Amino acid sequence: MIASVEPAGIVGRVGAIEQQCDRKATDVTARTRLEQLGLLLAAGLTNIQARELFEAAAGFKMSRINLFDHELPAVIKFCDEQRLSYELSDYRVLEFMSEEGKGHFSNMGTRTDDPAGLRYCYVSRDPEESRRGKEAERAEDFGPWEMGELLRVPKCCTDFFVRNKQEAIDRYSDDYALITSRETGSPGPFDFRLNYQAQYFGYSLFTYFLCNWRCEESIRRSEAILEIVGDVSPSWRRTFERNLASVIVYENLVAVHRVHGEFVGGRELAFYPHDLRSTSSTPLREFLLRERRLRWEQDGSLRFTAGGGAALLAADETRVIPFTAETSSADV
Ligand SMILES: [Zn+2]
Repeated sequence: MIASVEPAGIVGRVGAIEQQCDRKATDVTARTRLEQLGLLLAAGLTNIQARELFEAAAGFKMSRINLFDHELPAVIKFCDEQRLSYELSDYRVLEFMSEEGKGHFSNMGTRTDDPAGLRYCYVSRDPEESRRGKEAERAEDFGPWEMGELLRVPKCCTDFFVRNKQEAIDRYSDDYALITSRETGSPGPFDFRLNYQAQYFGYSLFTYFLCNWRCEESIRRSEAILEIVGDVSPSWRRTFERNLASVIVYENLVAVHRVHGEFVGGRELAFYPHDLRSTSSTPLREFLLRERRLRWEQDGSLRFTAGGGAALLAADETRVIPFTAETSSADV
């Protein structure tokens, strides 16, 4: 373990908040978990990173999060309170070196010694697992099989990842959504718990790539994760659910859009402007804001009814990936 990295200021502040809350860190009750969540978010961690830490605390798996140095003290404090072990990568990663059309989210990282980079933090109940995670990712290919096992990724999805990695890097900025759509071969809607594309807007239940938009093992795994999130806070769980039950419009290499709205007919969604969020402003976004309707074909490609030129609005490979919270999500 690495002891600490310039934590004085933040640790001091965390200590003060602790005193105000007047509690001891030994009894990890529901109230304590909620306080811990608040402290993690206040320290700058995302909802996804905080969820990962609570999964490790529940003994569900080893978790890996990437952290700036200033975020470390809150994570170390969490690990100490929860009696979790952690390891830090001895290299750093720089993200956002090229535009990926994903807003404040990046799939591509470059290893570096630059202190401005992020470090991976491996957290687990089992010290051996965090050590193995750190070792496995030293390899140039990041050790996908061993990491898959430690992160409890379904084997079908690790296999999919390894098989398609080169194509994903070459064509899709290391995102696999369009390959997953190709392998799935049906229009959906799909189970909302599998909407990892919502990660571009701050929420997802896992950080691996899906072999299929209907992967049963991933649905079971995601339900277990929702229960862990709900144990921390039922309203935190509802926030995840609300954010995941949405329709994704994936404009390859340009933008990802997320729409909340009402299904009107099989493959048509009606929505208000504030229901549409996008990682970048694109001509397609402007068009959708005017139309307030999203229509798509059986293969997930967009359907335009407002004139022939409209099809030119969207990036070459654009796909609609609809998710729903309805339990019977038969194809439409
Ligand atoms: Zn799978």
